[in-house]
Amino acid sequence: MQTDCIFCKLAAKEIPVQAIYEDEHVIAFPDINPAAPTHVLIIPKQHVANLLEVSPESPLMAQLMGVIPRIAAQLGLAEEGFRVVINTKEHAGQTVHHLHLHLLGGRIMTWPPG
Ligand code: 5GP
Repeated sequence: MQTDCIFCKLAAKEIPVQAIYEDEHVIAFPDINPAAPTHVLIIPKQHVANLLEVSPESPLMAQLMGVIPRIAAQLGLAEEGFRVVINTKEHAGQTVHHLHLHLLGGRIMTWPPG
């Protein structure tokens, strides 16, 4: 755990969190500033700053991606679909430096993203 990391604090429940899904490795919760009718963040409990810090041997991405079908079904996104985004560093607009997947749904998305 990194003491100055807001997502570490949420994962450790030092800050109250409304968990939509949780297991040993992963926790998912609503984004505080939703960009779509449904906007969930899926994060590893372990501190990893961004995608560049994930080693090829690590099961982490499978643990994170693997819960998406279940969460999508739970939130009613499986039929119409959804978007998954991982912002990585400055050019992508990453503001919280603890790896997180944005799961966005409930409206039609445009492409290319801004
Ligand atoms: P990024 O821009 O790094 O890809 O996404 C960070 C996301 O975290 C943003 O969508 C922002 O609204 C969300 N966020 C930042 N702080 C908090 C928080 O304390 N609680 C929750 N639930 N979401 C947060």
